[in-house]
Amino acid sequence: MRPARALIDLNALRHNYRLARQIHGGRVFAVIKANAYGHGTLACARALASEADGFAVAFLDEALALRAAGIGAPILLLEGVFDVDELILAARHGLWSAVHHVAQVEMIEKAVLPAPLRVWIKVNSGMNRAGFLPGAVRLIWKRLVISGKVKDCGFMTHFARADESDAAATAEQIRVFDAATRNLPGERCLANSGAILAWPDARRDWARPGIMLYGADPLPGEDHGLQAVMTLESRVVAVRDLASGDPLGYGARFVAPRPTRVGLVAMGYADGYPRSAPDRTPVAVAGKAAVLIGRVSMDMLTVDLTDLPDAGIGSPVELWGKRISVNDVAQAAGTISYELLCNVKRVNFVWEGQGKATVSPAAA
Ligand SMILES: *Cc1c(COP(=O)(O)O)cnc(C)c1O
Repeated sequence: MRPARALIDLNALRHNYRLARQIHGGRVFAVIKANAYGHGTLACARALASEADGFAVAFLDEALALRAAGIGAPILLLEGVFDVDELILAARHGLWSAVHHVAQVEMIEKAVLPAPLRVWIKVNSGMNRAGFLPGAVRLIWKRLVISGKVKDCGFMTHFARADESDAAATAEQIRVFDAATRNLPGERCLANSGAILAWPDARRDWARPGIMLYGADPLPGEDHGLQAVMTLESRVVAVRDLASGDPLGYGARFVAPRPTRVGLVAMGYADGYPRSAPDRTPVAVAGKAAVLIGRVSMDMLTVDLTDLPDAGIGSPVELWGKRISVNDVAQAAGTISYELLCNVKRVNFVWEGQGKATVSPAAA
């Protein structure tokens, strides 16, 4: 079997969830949209099922997959519904829906629903991506209540810069949100991972952490005790010696500055490892620090083994995980941990920490 795999530590996931709840207090939606940030939605939902207060996903299909698997906890649709058919299904399955646009309000007003819907009015407190302007919130709330179609109406907002611990913009978003919802009844939900860790003022009834559940700290350079959940790993499958001046790989991006021992690793950008990773991006070979050299190809990449004489064919290679921070790889590659984790595919997934390890073959 090709040795490329993503090892998912479900105990670490539970640890991180508990930490999020301990820091924030109140109740916590585990955000498991986008295949649980690449970690496997159902495995992650099942691992958290006995303790999560609720789950959050982006849209209906992600939620229906959870209901079909027997997850009965509250599930929040962060983008809300896209049409009336979705609205009816959301009500039928007891899903909670964000309402961020007036077209969704009109849909609710007109729909014949099988059950009242629990909604969360999304306030645009300054990110200017989705949500109602502060001045419109009270009227939207009134329309939803008068419609008779909703049972509980909460209020949420999302921060643009929560991962910057000194951004005045976040304090301002909190102020705008509080002013827009003053004296309106209903639960509040503000904090994503960055806000949980950096913005105590954003703590309300509910939080919505995503990335911190997977152990990638959104505040670079800080250590909040999160544990990496995914280890992306493979093995050295061939070794080659280059002479000084020999080129390596596509575009000859790397040219050996000295006699260089190169390890070929079964992992490429088709598996989700970023092609934008430059020479010297950190990896670990047989538990020791090493670096990527040469351009990442679709199925393979190359690492420098010159200073690791004991490493050779069969040596394990960690691309990110417990030893190599996904944040460091993301920074080197000019992106963020979120994108790297979401993009992992084609490798074998192995989930550990929920009884027996379960394995899904590549391309499942
Ligand atoms: C994805 C998402 C989250 C989770 O954000 P993290 O930064 O991963 O914690 C929270 N709220 C909304 C609206 C989201 O779309």
